[in-house]
Amino acid sequence: MKKIKRKHVGIIGWISLILGILLILLGCWLKLFWLIAAALLEMAAAIIFLAVFNRCPHCGRFLGHAGGGIHCPYCGERLDE
Ligand SMILES: [Zn+2]
Repeated sequence: MKKIKRKHVGIIGWISLILGILLILLGCWLKLFWLIAAALLEMAAAIIFLAVFNRCPHCGRFLGHAGGGIHCPYCGERLDE
């Protein structure tokens, strides 16, 4: 699997989630239920994407909220390799 820079993982993940919320709102507004369903799928994909890639490159542990830090809270290695 190709490595993605963690900075980019966060940006892509959060943009996808925000986009999903906007699509749900748009779907509710326009009463387009297929759009809401598509947005939910898109958000689920974004969450899976974050869960898979938002990990420490050294010890492999899930970083969660600590993802914005410079050092891994588990092994102390730098995350911005
Ligand atoms: Zn680590």
